[in-house]
Amino acid sequence: MQDSPSFNGIDRLERSDDWGVYKTLLESTKAIPWKINWQTKQFDYIGPQIESLLGWPRDSWLGAMDWIERIHPEDRECTTNFCISQSEEGVDHEADYRALKADGSYVWIRDVVHVIRDENGVTTDLVGFMFDISARKQMEQEVFDLNRKLEAWSNQDGLTGVANRRLFDQTMAAEWARGKRSGAPLSLLMLDVDHFKGYNDLYGHVKGDESLIRVAQAIVQTPMRSSDLFARYGGEEFALILPQTPADAAQQVAEKCREAVAALNIPHAASPVGVITISVGVCTMVPGDESSFTTLVERADDKLYRAKRNGRNCVCSY
Ligand code: GH3
Ligand code: MG
Ligand code: MG
Repeated sequence: MQDSPSFNGIDRLERSDDWGVYKTLLESTKAIPWKINWQTKQFDYIGPQIESLLGWPRDSWLGAMDWIERIHPEDRECTTNFCISQSEEGVDHEADYRALKADGSYVWIRDVVHVIRDENGVTTDLVGFMFDISARKQMEQEVFDLNRKLEAWSNQDGLTGVANRRLFDQTMAAEWARGKRSGAPLSLLMLDVDHFKGYNDLYGHVKGDESLIRVAQAIVQTPMRSSDLFARYGGEEFALILPQTPADAAQQVAEKCREAVAALNIPHAASPVGVITISVGVCTMVPGDESSFTTLVERADDKLYRAKRNGRNCVCSY
């Protein structure tokens, strides 16, 4: 069997009657075999497949530095530190990293390394295989992205795109616990579209849905802090959680929301004011052990119904 074009240290590899068979096997797999002398840190061998994978000529792989320099800067330090320490300790290991191609792009590599030691346990050589794992990495990335999308969807209301009841409940529990630790006031607004049954009856559910979306978006676009959470509580009812917010500030936010919806000027012939409006109930509590966040919801809801009784399109605070 014929040797492939010779490479630096290829003659240093042991030759036997079977060597040609092994070599053909090694050089015909997709995994790229290599061997490095741990004393000199020079490559004794690297499979010719390296050239088609990374584009660098086979004879440009002289020593460990050529390998290190072709690792992505973000992966370089941790990969080399890990591989050097494992090799010195005589431990077989694997490392995933991005390798630089001659065209400037990167490819994900998994290096599987076997450490050869002498009779005293001192590391003499490393042998290994490099695998192209870019397809696997891309799949992992797609699964990761999909999971993030699913997580976002699971917290989002399907109609209006704002947070859903699930995220509202989670956030309320978390903010209640945070308020208990910090002693800061937690405010909650409950907002409900006025005479919405009449709107549906008059304009139909499709128009009703469109208007609900517009109402939600108008409120979302009012100035908010990143810690605030606006959610669809259910039906035509929404909620706005305002962490670390005292009663007077919460009342002002509620008024801004009410104004933002009225300013949409969505015609509503079955409403006494002629446009779509909302009523808002506000409550502020300093979270404590004696009650739970449901008390805050109940009290804000109570005030919402007071606002309804007061003639709607208004804010009522606890
Ligand atoms: P009030 O001013 O007292 O709140 O009166 P209202 O008519 O808004 O209250 P009611 O609870 O009687 O009716 C709520 C209506 O909201 C009934 C329901 O058809 C409508 N609704 C709830 N969810 C949706 C939705 O997702 N889309 C549409 N189009 N309508 C909805
Ligand atoms: Mg309503
Ligand atoms: Mg309602």
